[in-house]
Amino acid sequence: MKRETELISFNPCPDDPFHANSTPIYQTATFALESALGGGKYDYSRSGNPTRDIVSEQIAKLEGAKYGLGSTSGMASLNVLLGLVKSGEHIIAGDDIYGGTFRLITKRLLTHKGITVTFIDITDLEKVKQAFKPNTRLILVETPSNPLQKIANLAQIAELSKKHQTIFAVDNSFMSPWLQQPLNFGADVVINSATKHLSGHSDVSGGFLLVNNDELAKELSFIQNAEGCALAPFDSWLILRGLKTLGLRIERQTQNSEIIVDYLQKHKLVTKLYYPTLSSHPGSNLHKQQASGGGNIICFETNNIDLSTQIVNKTELFNISVSFGGVHSSISLPVNMSHAAILKTEHQIASDLVRISVGIEDSGDLIADLEQAFNTKYYT
Ligand SMILES: *Cc1c(COP(=O)(O)O)cnc(C)c1O
Repeated sequence: MKRETELISFNPCPDDPFHANSTPIYQTATFALESALGGGKYDYSRSGNPTRDIVSEQIAKLEGAKYGLGSTSGMASLNVLLGLVKSGEHIIAGDDIYGGTFRLITKRLLTHKGITVTFIDITDLEKVKQAFKPNTRLILVETPSNPLQKIANLAQIAELSKKHQTIFAVDNSFMSPWLQQPLNFGADVVINSATKHLSGHSDVSGGFLLVNNDELAKELSFIQNAEGCALAPFDSWLILRGLKTLGLRIERQTQNSEIIVDYLQKHKLVTKLYYPTLSSHPGSNLHKQQASGGGNIICFETNNIDLSTQIVNKTELFNISVSFGGVHSSISLPVNMSHAAILKTEHQIASDLVRISVGIEDSGDLIADLEQAFNTKYYT
């Protein structure tokens, strides 16, 4: 079966006596056990719930994973993953990562848990090689990175990670499994913020960890259960519903993005443009080997903070909001918004960098909106 079919055609409620065509929301905290000695597949929703199991299996299939673990947000999933790292151990992370991930690492692991970290440019394999220490437990990368769209060589980093017996984790929230499946390139764990593309409608928070290794899956699900951050039944259902149109949405968003990239590339007020399949992008060839499209996030600079601010303020079809991956287009200045948790001295994001997340609207309408936002009496 092709992925398009798998998104739609699956058993929506195994063992349900009424054969509903839409997965029921098992809105229950507890399940009756078979006897005083236990028994039964489920006992407590923090540990296991049928609605959550079905959405987890669907996402696992997309990522090419044996196991999927759903939690309350992308950050909760990252926290479960980082729970593998013990006090005194070391992690390597990309130097251009999601602001919330940076905050979790620097303000929690570093300060409260005695875990050390090296942030490196993941496009430079020499630097990656040198960053490994005897106590390195985990390497965490995003490709393309958020928001500068740096491309990591997944297969080569996987090889280095294997050599040093560390866990190689890839945050795939930017691409989603529709465009890129890092497990196929040797990653040990994939993280997806389901708040983004997987649900796609900006109406739910969720996160998933996807793994193939039995032992690792066991350890992660132990941490998730112990810390109590499993995804709720209704949120599982919302993500499952959004997931059915994942392919349609991403294909339309990518198509719209390519048209907008073409418009921005020709715009005389745009000084720098970031999109992973642009031929001028230093990682475009590598990206094309790892992913089947550029996705829906476009970043650009204007060399003029006032102009960038004006564009964000004046667009009407783009919501000014953090996050990305929804059906509705959005626009932001990452330095002030999603990446505000990163100290100005520590990040490389220009303050005039505009990030747009392209939705499924008509591309002509989106371009007309950007055009009116660029144009004022000062900037024509
Ligand atoms: C949004 C995001 C997260 C965090 O996910 P939440 O669901 O918002 O907690 C993690 N990584 C990346 C790359 C993201 O874009």
